[in-house]
Amino acid sequence: MGRNGFPVVFDGHNDVLLRLGGPDGGGPGAFFERGEKGHLDLPRAREGGFGGGIFAVWIPSPKTSERTPRGLPLALDAAYALRRSMADAAMLFRIEDRSDGKLRVVRTAAELRRCLEDEVMAAVLHLEGADAIDTDLDALHVLYRAGLRSLGLVWGRPNAFAEGVAVHFRRSPDTGPGLTEAGRKLVRACNELRIMIDVSHLNERGFWDVAALTDAPLVASHSNAYALCASTRNLTDPQLDAIAASEGMVGLNFAVNFLREDAARDASTPLEVMVRQIDYLVERVGIDRVGFGSDFDGVLISEEIGDVSGLPRLLSDLRDRGYDDRALRKLAHENWVRVLRKTWGD
Ligand SMILES: [Zn+2]
Repeated sequence: MGRNGFPVVFDGHNDVLLRLGGPDGGGPGAFFERGEKGHLDLPRAREGGFGGGIFAVWIPSPKTSERTPRGLPLALDAAYALRRSMADAAMLFRIEDRSDGKLRVVRTAAELRRCLEDEVMAAVLHLEGADAIDTDLDALHVLYRAGLRSLGLVWGRPNAFAEGVAVHFRRSPDTGPGLTEAGRKLVRACNELRIMIDVSHLNERGFWDVAALTDAPLVASHSNAYALCASTRNLTDPQLDAIAASEGMVGLNFAVNFLREDAARDASTPLEVMVRQIDYLVERVGIDRVGFGSDFDGVLISEEIGDVSGLPRLLSDLRDRGYDDRALRKLAHENWVRVLRKTWGD
C-alpha cells in the first residue's frame, strides 16, 4: 500500500520529457518543483502515489501542411529524429542525475520492483516511434545499452519500419500498410534484446504483423476499447482478444477523446467514463491484463483527475465500483511488473 491508502501506481505512458524540453518547460530542474502547468512532476507524483512509469521520447513533426497521400504527417528526417531523441533521452538521464536517488532509470524487472518498494520513482526509457533508428539497427543497439527497454514502432506517421494509424472516429483502424521488411527485422531484434514492443499507434495491419511475429506478450501501453469509443487509436475486440491470448496487457489512456463514446475533447468528462472503459477491458481481457497508460503531459484529461496528484480519485472510484485491494494492486502496478518481467526476463 502507498501512503494514500491505495497501491502505488506504475503507469504505461507519459510525455513529461517533451513538456520539460519545450520552450516553457523549464528543463530537468522543473521536474523537482511542484508546477501548475502540465500533469507530472515529482511533488505531484508523490501526492498521487505515482511510483513510476514508461517515459516516452516523442518527436514532434516539423510544422508544414504537407501530408502523405493517406493524410499523415510526413516521415521524419533521420538526422532531425536522432538529434531530438538524444535531447529527450538526455533529459531523462539529467533528471536521474539531479534526483539525489529519488528517480532511477530502470533496466531490469528486479530494479523496477525494488524502486516501487523503496518509493524511488522508476522510469523506463521508451521511444514513441522508431523514427530515430536506422535500418541497420545500430541506434537500437546503442540505445539499448543506454537503457532503452520499450519501443513503439511508430507514432502517427510512416517511418522505415511501419505506418502509424491515422486518427479517425467511427472508421476502421485498418488505415494503411503493415510492417516493412525492415519492420520485421526490428521486431526480431527487439525480441532478441528483450525490448518491449508497444503496439499503441500502429495501424491494424501493423498490429497483426507484430502479433504474428513477436514471441513476447502484446502490449498496448496507452489505448482503450474501440467498442466504447470508436477511435482508430483504440483496440477492436479481436485485437483485445489477441492481447489476452498472448498474456500481454492494455494501459488505459486518460485522453478524454479516446475514452468517450462521442470522442469529444471535453475536460468535464466524468471519471465514470474511465471506470466504464476499465470494466469493459477487464471483462474482455481479464483483470491480469489491464493497467494505466495515462498519457500525462500529452493529452487532454478529465478535470476530475486534473493531474497525477488526482490518481487516488480514480482508484477510489474503482474501489467503490467493487474492485477489491487485490484487483486494485493488479491495475495499479502488478500487471505492468508482470508483463515487463516476462518481456525483459528477471
Ligand atoms: Zn501516444
